[in-house]
Amino acid sequence: MPRAGAEGGKPCVFCEIVAHRAPAHIVYEDESTVAFLDIFPFTRGHLLVVSKRHGARLTDLPFEDQMALIRTLDEMCRRVERLAPDYNLALNAGAAAGQVVFHVHFHIIPRYGEANPFRASTRPRLSPTDAEALVGELSSS
Ligand code: AMP
Ligand code: ZN
Repeated sequence: MPRAGAEGGKPCVFCEIVAHRAPAHIVYEDESTVAFLDIFPFTRGHLLVVSKRHGARLTDLPFEDQMALIRTLDEMCRRVERLAPDYNLALNAGAAAGQVVFHVHFHIIPRYGEANPFRASTRPRLSPTDAEALVGELSSS
């Protein structure tokens, strides 16, 4: 069931992606979860893994949805290892922790030996060409 986002009346952007009403570069989907490319990636291949059920944080989800999310997280980590063996996993819970989209999601951020990407002053938007290439690289199991 889609919910309002943090900005009041606007629908939750991740619920919109889950419902295929908003565009996203989806690399994985099953009955409970979706994984897609972050539109402002910290590094190439930055993925978001979300539950189809709306909840702001992990502890808002029923156990079965938590387990489904972890199962998909494992699968996506394995796929991201095709890009780079090292990566960061992150989950921001609450505004003070940096959460901007209040629909629970894990970040998988491949690391290529670059300087700390989390301190970058700008995050360039994902290019359509790279998005297409990454969907090709990450969509198959
Ligand atoms: P957080 O700070 O943990 O809430 O992260 C939210 C993430 O969602 C950020 O990295 C954004 O770049 C990303 N994001 C926001 N809107 C979209 C969208 N429509 N498609 C893909 N990623 C998005
Ligand atoms: Zn939502």
